[in-house]
Order: sequence, then structure tokens, then C-alpha cells
Amino acid sequence: NLDVTQGDSFGFEKYSMCKALNMVQSARRAFASNKTRSTKFRKTQLKELVKFLEKEEKALCTAVYDDLKKPKAETILHEILTVIKEAREAVNSLQSWVKPTTVKSTIVNSLDTVKILDEPYGVTLVIGAWNFPVHLTLLPVIGAIAAGNCVVIKPSEHAPATARAIASLLPKYIDSECYPVYLGGVEETSELLKQKFDYIFFTGSPSIGKLVHQAASQNLTPVTLELGGKSPVYIDNTANLKLAAKRIMWGKTQNCGQICVAPDYVLCSKEVQDKFLKYAQAALHQFYGDNVRENGDFGRIINQHHFHRLTGLLRDQKVAIGGPSDPKDHFVHPTIVTDVHPDDAIMQEEIFGPILPIVTVESYEEAINFINQREKPLALYVFTGCKKVKKAFLRETSSGAVLINDVLMHSVADGLPFGGVGNSGIGAYHGKHTFDTFSHKKAVMERGTSMLIDKIDSIRYPPYNNTKTKL
Ligand code: NAD
Repeated sequence: NLDVTQGDSFGFEKYSMCKALNMVQSARRAFASNKTRSTKFRKTQLKELVKFLEKEEKALCTAVYDDLKKPKAETILHEILTVIKEAREAVNSLQSWVKPTTVKSTIVNSLDTVKILDEPYGVTLVIGAWNFPVHLTLLPVIGAIAAGNCVVIKPSEHAPATARAIASLLPKYIDSECYPVYLGGVEETSELLKQKFDYIFFTGSPSIGKLVHQAASQNLTPVTLELGGKSPVYIDNTANLKLAAKRIMWGKTQNCGQICVAPDYVLCSKEVQDKFLKYAQAALHQFYGDNVRENGDFGRIINQHHFHRLTGLLRDQKVAIGGPSDPKDHFVHPTIVTDVHPDDAIMQEEIFGPILPIVTVESYEEAINFINQREKPLALYVFTGCKKVKKAFLRETSSGAVLINDVLMHSVADGLPFGGVGNSGIGAYHGKHTFDTFSHKKAVMERGTSMLIDKIDSIRYPPYNNTKTKL
């Protein structure tokens, strides 16, 4: 029901222009009070965020289930524990993160103090997506708090139960002036984007990302855009095909395929395709048994609109593996389609569901060419045992990330930045990278005032002469 996009159907007051303005102004006053400058305050807030996730686990699991029919184990692993882990990391590392970076001294600045200070931007905005409605809303917030910002938090209206849970429960834990939650759909978010923010962090589709970028440009507000697109998989005949099929089908069926870095389509030879199909069928059976639909470990598509979009993409396609879907509960059966033509509708948009098309190619060079003719992906997956092929993909393609011989796992690897390039996004986050994203790197220099230093400096003062300009 698309009516959930209206603010008042959240059961809260209508989120209007006035509400947006008041919220931002109040966050601005809170920022001006300097309380978020204290690392003690930031740590307390982050610990409270952890407490919120621990204490409200049940409410959050129920809400995410209501929105996505996501299995509880997946909610705990991907939505709650991941966020707790990052919040704890921020608490434990904050003192070292906020330390000024000293700049290597050279002959020119040896008598000066030169350093880089991490400065909070001010009042920031985080706009989340619905597919991981807790994780994608709160993970950026951790870095924003750690860096000393205030944050207006805007969960996705397409996961209304989770949005409501965050809006009603989070203020019991963290400072609601510094970190208010704003609910609403397109209309209300458009109002929010008319306000001046000091940083905007957006997760969503490339088309809405462009609107957000446009709105941000009115105030020259810097942005991180965590977007999506089609993440390709290349498989060659040197790969461990059984393991490849298992990992790819896992990545395609987690969260019912509604993951920004889900493997979108496969490029491989006809020979690899035939073996892949056999192993993929076995993997699906291993995960979900004889009846996927009845298996509680398989989720559902978010809403009717996306259900019909997905089943529409299957029209006129040759289904190699699949089963009946059902609009009643937005169940889309894991499906693999073969003999797909690059011009087919299924190859024109991000699938964002448990459907995997295979396009056959004759060589890795053809696969690279195919990828390079399209928008830069968020993730690129290469299954191969061949060094030359790995090297060629790393050197000759551009994507947010490359993962060799697996899918999705790079997004939880400690230390790696997560983000896109080109159409798949601007900027990156996770761990310390989120802190850096939300920190302005302020250049600071302090100079001595002795006459000796001024004498050494005399070259800069007029009158000029030839000796002064000789290197
Ligand atoms: P979306 O772009 O439709 O919506 C994202 C957010 O934008 C929502 O909070 C929504 O309220 C807001 N919004 C929608 N229309 C708007 C408008 N006209 N003006 C202002 N705000 C508006 O995306 P979605 O359907 O929520 O998520 C799916 C997309 O997000 C996919 O493309 C997916 O790949 C991408 N995604 C990316 C990541 C990532 O980390 N890179 C993670 C999850 C999802």
C-alpha cells in the first residue's frame, strides 16, 4: 500500500515543512551549544545507541519482520549485531580517531606546528533505505555521532514498522535534540531537503540520489551517495563451480535478493552455465528444501509494486530454475533465466529480487567489455582460479569494489571502505571511514613570532630581487 508514504499514516503528526524547519533549527541550537564537541558526550551517546539495539532487539526484530518477513536470525546478524559492532568500535577507537594528524615536517615548515584537525560538519542528514532498515539508517549515524555532528535521521517510509520503531524508541536512549528522527515519504523528504544541512548522507537509488545531490548543491552541501545498480558476476571454467554456485545463490536469496550489492547477473560461457545451473539447483535445495515458500529462512518482496515489477521482468524469459510466485504475500521464487539478451528489460535495471539472468560470453575479454559498456557497478564479482583473469578485471574495470571468488562478504570486511563510483555512488563508509566521511579535515598551522623566524621568512616580502626568485 503506497499510502504508507504519507507522513500522517505513520501514526505521528504530519511531518511538514514547519516540522522539518523546527527540527533542523533545534539541532542547530544543540550543535551551537558545543555539547557534541565533547568526546565523553559522543561516547555516551554511542553506548546508548548500543543499549537501544540490545534492549529493543525484540521490538526491532518484530518490526523488520512486519516490513520484510525477514528471518529473525538475519535481522539479528545483519541489522543489529553489525550495528552494535561498529558502535562499539567507535567507542573504543574514538580517542585515537580524534587525535590531530601531525604533518611530516620539511625544511619549509620545520619551525611551525602543522596538523590536520577532524572537525564536525555541524547538522547532518542521514536518509536510509528500506532493505536493511535498521542497519542502513543507523550505521552512518554512528560515524556522524563519533565525529561530533548533530544528525537528523530519516528512515525509509517503505519499511514503516521499522521507521516507527526507530522514531518512538530511539529518543528514549540518545539525545533527541541532537539526533531527531524525521518520518515521511517523498513529499516530506522533499521538504526536509529544502533545509540547509552541513552534510547529507543518502542511501538509495541512483535516480533519487541525483535529486538529493541537486538539493544539496543549493547550499554547496557535501554528500555521500550510497547508490545501487547492476553488480555483475563473471565465472570461468577454472573456478570452483560448485562453491561459486552456492555462494552466488546465497547472495541472490539473502533478503530475497533485495541487497544493493546482490549479484545482479552472471556472465559465463555456455559450458560453465550448464554446470552452474546444476550446482545452483542443488544449493537452493540445500538452503530451502523442497518448498522454498514454506521455508521460514526465505523472505518476501517489500511491496506489491516491486512484486509486479519483478514478475514483469520474467515475461518472455526462459526460466531454467524457478517456481510459482504469489502476489498475496509478495513471494517471488528464486529464479534463474538463461538465453538472456543484453537488450532485454531484465538487463536494463537493477533487479533487486531473487532473479538471476545469465548472459553467455565467449571469453573474459568479452565480459570485461560488456561491463565497461555499462554504468560502473557497486560491486563486481569474479569467480576464477586464473591469475591473468583476476589481474585483468582488477586493472581494466571500475567498480565500488571487486570481490574474487565470493559475493557480499567484502561489505563486512573490517577496514574496507564501502561505497560506489560513478553511477553507483559518491564517497564511502564503514568503521573509521564513516568517522572520516563525517569529519571536515581542517588544516591548522601555527607559526612562531620570533624575529629569527621572520628573518628566515624574509623572502616573501617585497622588495623582490633576483636572488629571492633563484631556487
Ligand atoms: P529510493 O531511492 O527510492 O529511496 C531512498 C530514500 O529516498 C527513501 O528514504 C525515500 O524516502 C527517499 N526518497 C524517495 N523519493 C524521493 C524524492 N523524490 N525526493 C526526496 N527523497 C526521496 O531507494 P529505495 O527503494 O529505498 O532503495 C533501493 C535502492 O537503494 C536500490 O537502488 C539499492 O541498490 C540502493 N541501495 C544502496 C545501498 C548502498 O549502501 N549503496 C544500500 C541499500 C540500497
